[in-house]
Amino acid sequence: MFDSYRGNTLQYFPELCINCKRCTQVCPHGVFAEGREHAELVSPSSCMECGACAGNCPAQAITVDTGVGCAWGMIAAALRGKDMDTEGCCGEDGTCCK
Ligand code: SF4
Ligand code: SF4
Repeated sequence: MFDSYRGNTLQYFPELCINCKRCTQVCPHGVFAEGREHAELVSPSSCMECGACAGNCPAQAITVDTGVGCAWGMIAAALRGKDMDTEGCCGEDGTCCK
């Protein structure tokens, strides 16, 4: 799993979470996990700032500055000689970033 971008802007406010589970479904890197009363932030260092979680959160419980995450993901993947970890992730309609 992609885990080389440790300094990110992801912020989570569990007191606002209504436990809809969307962030656990859209995050391509397993940053959030389902919890009993609210989502759990289990792997913040794996966040690549794609913005999918914040964009899909109906309670504004997540904020993240987007714009460099996918580019960084592509660069890191290219350096490893691989495609992105998540197919179609880079802002196209219907992808995790939209
Ligand atoms: S910004 Fe993207 S990678 Fe980061 S936690 Fe949200 S969905 Fe996951
Ligand atoms: S998308 Fe927002 S409201 Fe839904 S579980 Fe995640 S943090 Fe909570």
